[in-house]
Amino acid sequence: MRIDVLTILPDLVETFARASVVGRGRDAGLVDIRIHDLREAATDRHRTVDDAPFGGGAGMVLRPEPVFRTVEVVDPPRPLFYLSPAGRVLDQSYVRELAGLDGFSLLCGRYEGVDERIRTELIDGEISIGDYVLAGGEVAAAVVIETVARLVPGVLGNEQSSIDESFSDGLLEYPQFTRPADFRGLLVPEVLRSGDHGRVERWRRAQALARTLDHRPDLIASRGGLTQPEQALLVEFGLDTTTL
Ligand code: SAM
Repeated sequence: MRIDVLTILPDLVETFARASVVGRGRDAGLVDIRIHDLREAATDRHRTVDDAPFGGGAGMVLRPEPVFRTVEVVDPPRPLFYLSPAGRVLDQSYVRELAGLDGFSLLCGRYEGVDERIRTELIDGEISIGDYVLAGGEVAAAVVIETVARLVPGVLGNEQSSIDESFSDGLLEYPQFTRPADFRGLLVPEVLRSGDHGRVERWRRAQALARTLDHRPDLIASRGGLTQPEQALLVEFGLDTTTL
């Protein structure tokens, strides 16, 4: 998996790409992250990459030349996505789609955004990380990189982690506990200490259903509601079915 990032703040992305799970995946050669400084393609001595918008208005706009030139010189892996509030909103199924690619590239905007000709002539798509406005695409790039890299086989120590977690089955994850079994009188549920793996699995499934029903009923609705066996599972563990 190769991910190229085009940015005017390469250090910001580089620091992130060196840390934790992404950094380990990179060190192990599983994710090849290459960061390109758009300013290197600027031609004036101040390495200017922005200019005022035609027609007037607030702020500055990222000029087309440094972005086109960087793409021509670097030939980054396609698709090239512009990180933008107007893009397709990232969710776990989109992350899985991206993780299925051999590589892709991310263009980070700054200022008021990029010259429209970059959008119409250069990029292949747009990704948003949510319905809010960041100051630049670098944090969005970090989100895309981390969510995708952890799905690349071998990056997480335990592959089961990305199978069991929230959204993997349209549900939020069940509650997790670790030692001590009794923390200030707060006890770990008996079922988790029972050694009965079948019951543990059923309890976890019931908890995931109940939590999703409570926190994100929209996710339950989008999978067509609860099936009869799922309702029975909630009843088996005495969980709230009043919102069914
Ligand atoms: N004027 C733009 C608008 O109203 O849509 C916002 C520009 S924003 C201040 C600067 C840059 O941050 C954008 O070019 C984009 O690259 C990035 N950005 C902002 N919000 C984002 C989001 N929700 N998802 C992905 N990138 C975002």
